[in-house]
Amino acid sequence: MLILLNIADGIAACFLLLLLGDFISTFLYHVPEHVFGKFHCLVHHSKNRSFLHYAVLTRNPLVLLDGFLGALPYFIFIPWLWQLSPVGTIVGMILGECHVVWRHTTALDRVTPQWLQTVFDACQLTTPERHWLHHQNGNVAFGDIFNFYDAPARQWLHILRRVKRRYRKMNQQNLEA
Ligand SMILES: [Zn+2]
Ligand SMILES: [Zn+2]
Repeated sequence: MLILLNIADGIAACFLLLLLGDFISTFLYHVPEHVFGKFHCLVHHSKNRSFLHYAVLTRNPLVLLDGFLGALPYFIFIPWLWQLSPVGTIVGMILGECHVVWRHTTALDRVTPQWLQTVFDACQLTTPERHWLHHQNGNVAFGDIFNFYDAPARQWLHILRRVKRRYRKMNQQNLEA
């Protein structure tokens, strides 16, 4: 019985780490970066990026920093989830890291088998093919791991862009006054 409870705690810790990490990363880093920053777009969305760039395997400090900032939201939950299950937390970190590398393998011209794409789509999980859509067009396919963050993230993008426009307009009016 105890071992079943341990397994349940482990699965919960692993799932929560990915769910909460992707949530914070998407809404507090990724989407705002698309509106107010240049950094993520420069590193992640410019053309002619090799797989190594995307996979955060390079030694380019800019790429490493983007990778680190994107991963930070996952780290902040470790102390809390560690109390629930250290093993689950570690497995969650490893799965998260593996997913980063895997979702960028499209840059190596790899194609995910159709059956796997169907399973991932059904589970609302991001495939490399889906993530590639985001690389090609920064306005779509948000949610690095979970697809269901895409719709609210696009709304968030829209809201932040409006805020930015309004702020610019206010600034301009102040300058003219
Ligand atoms: Zn990417
Ligand atoms: Zn992006």
